[in-house]
Amino acid sequence: MGQRKASTDGDRKVGRRALLIGGLVAATGTAVLARDELARLWWRTPGVEKPRKEGEVDYAGARWVAASDANWRRADRPDDFGIDMVIVHVTQGSFDSAVKAFQDPGHKAATHYIVRQDGHVTQMIRELDVAYHAGNRDYNERSVGIEHEGFVDRPQDFTDEMYEASARLTARICARYDIPVDREHIIGHVEVPGTDHTDPGPHWDWKKYMRLVREARTAPA
Ligand SMILES: [Zn+2]
Repeated sequence: MGQRKASTDGDRKVGRRALLIGGLVAATGTAVLARDELARLWWRTPGVEKPRKEGEVDYAGARWVAASDANWRRADRPDDFGIDMVIVHVTQGSFDSAVKAFQDPGHKAATHYIVRQDGHVTQMIRELDVAYHAGNRDYNERSVGIEHEGFVDRPQDFTDEMYEASARLTARICARYDIPVDREHIIGHVEVPGTDHTDPGPHWDWKKYMRLVREARTAPA
């Protein structure tokens, strides 16, 4: 789809930074934030070095399996790089093969999350860190990447369970970083400038997915 205007990105990041601390509570209302997310509001305080605990996840519904650290870069997001995008991928293989690939230091790529066809969610990289998934440094730094189990040419792979689980995950990511729920901020890998990847492909139902994200975003936590 459309190319993004690189010249406006810097301005937007500065603007977002200024609004970060008061903005989240004001924009979303404390009532809809889960307790674990409230506990993480201090993440938004600039300069704080965040600790990581093995097994800890950013999304309550996820199970942790660590990716090889060759497939991501330690960072301090959203303080050093603002997060304003979710990027949707399709694995072109089974869930297990994707987990294995992301554990392989030679793979040189991984996403933060993988959603299985039955709706199970595995997290492999913390949202604090920059995952190598978009094939574009700027987009890697500002996004959370979500893989979906399946093949782009097999519409039957995109199950209701997978759409719904992924939409709930994306809705919580959007809530945490105050990301608008629209197609400017929730994009496919194919829409990343410079990519030669086609995922999630023509069978990914964006209309349905965005409706589910919107519903999950406004539902009480
Ligand atoms: Zn991809």
